[in-house]
Amino acid sequence: MKLTLLISALLLFLIAPADQDKYHRDRQQMVTAQLEARGISHEPTLNAMRSVERHRLVPPAQVQYAYEDRPLPIGFGQTISQPYMVGYMTEVIKPTAGMKVLEIGTGSGYQAAVLAEIVDEVYTIEIVEELAKTAKSRLEEMGYPNIHAKEGDGYFGWEEHAPFDAIIVTAASEFIPPPLIKQLKEGGKMVIPVGAPFTTQQLMLVEKQKDGKRKTRNLLPVRFVPFTRN
Ligand code: SAH
Repeated sequence: MKLTLLISALLLFLIAPADQDKYHRDRQQMVTAQLEARGISHEPTLNAMRSVERHRLVPPAQVQYAYEDRPLPIGFGQTISQPYMVGYMTEVIKPTAGMKVLEIGTGSGYQAAVLAEIVDEVYTIEIVEELAKTAKSRLEEMGYPNIHAKEGDGYFGWEEHAPFDAIIVTAASEFIPPPLIKQLKEGGKMVIPVGAPFTTQQLMLVEKQKDGKRKTRNLLPVRFVPFTRN
């Protein structure tokens, strides 16, 4: 018994680094083939996605698919977005150091981690209790002290920490929640999929101009899981 344990420990020791190398390679490949090849060019976004360990944020059964070109199930009917979509939404808000960003729909925590590699502070809210808990503890283990995660209805934003330089909403809403517009800084950008659930929605960029007026632009057709309310 002891010997088997010893052997498995040794095997783990030998195999684990090889796996790490594989994930590292898969990640570089993901960025080249799925992001750069499709026009994502914002270096900080590309670098962040080259380093965030996406395979550590998906359920065990999905680890082998972590770097594939598609969304993956994370339980409770929810998904981790396709890497390209994460790259696109990150690039579009033009994140830089010094910024404070709000994300609605923590899900796996992956989008939050990508942002946390670039900006100073990330606030993220998830409505499904179990997902909120899992993401929070994984992100802590992975060492992201600048991510502040909570369970709750993102419709109301996170007032205590507003205003935000940018807001990323990762669930499709029929309209833009007014509290989120309010919590966006003047000059800030919000990216949000707008449209009915289970149909194709429009990914929209909302810019709050210095005079407080809003400028909106349709970016591309997308399919996101629905924005739900408690
Ligand atoms: N950004 C996530 C994508 C998760 S999918 C990632 O990187 O993995 C969108 C998430 O939004 C789901 O987990 C869903 O439960 C959550 N969600 C839906 N409506 C919400 C709301 N009103 N407030 C907060 N989270 C919400």
